[in-house]
Amino acid sequence: MCLSCSGTAVELGVLLPHLAGAVIEGVVVAAGLLFVLARAQADTAACPACGAVSGRVHGRYGRRLADVAIGGYRVMIRLTVRRFFCACAGCQRRTFAEQVPGLTVRYGRKTPLLGGVLRDIAVALAGRARSRLAGSLGVPASRQVLLRLVMAAPDPAAPAPRVLGVDLSGVLSHPSVTSPAWARTTVS
Ligand SMILES: [Zn+2]
Repeated sequence: MCLSCSGTAVELGVLLPHLAGAVIEGVVVAAGLLFVLARAQADTAACPACGAVSGRVHGRYGRRLADVAIGGYRVMIRLTVRRFFCACAGCQRRTFAEQVPGLTVRYGRKTPLLGGVLRDIAVALAGRARSRLAGSLGVPASRQVLLRLVMAAPDPAAPAPRVLGVDLSGVLSHPSVTSPAWARTTVS
């Protein structure tokens, strides 16, 4: 049954939300990889330096992004990226490359979604176990890459203390004080 013809068409953005800002122009399976050919959906892009929106295209180039596995296939996104002229005459950036929200980061070679998956694996496991799990999930990564992700991961927020212990032994040892040498203070 064709989902599109039966009136139950599934939006790509629902299945693959990180690709919602892209137009999928084709899918090719080759050498065990699933290549997704895509381009940005928006006609314009904002300059990262001054924020001016531009639609004047300077040129195009290809970019490869590793992504999470689909249907057991390793996925590589071949994204056609446009370089725009900045619309602001006084801007320090004469041209800039577009970014697709949720899909690309500057100089990144993997999607933020894949980066998050690998970071979680790297933080949870150690050594060969993390490399093996990443490989079996269809997102292989070298030990060096996984280690870098651990190092770049933000430290978990330390929980606020509920009870503080206060050492009053110096004060309470004074001859005028007869109460126990330790006291506890509760903070909310
Ligand atoms: Zn600019």
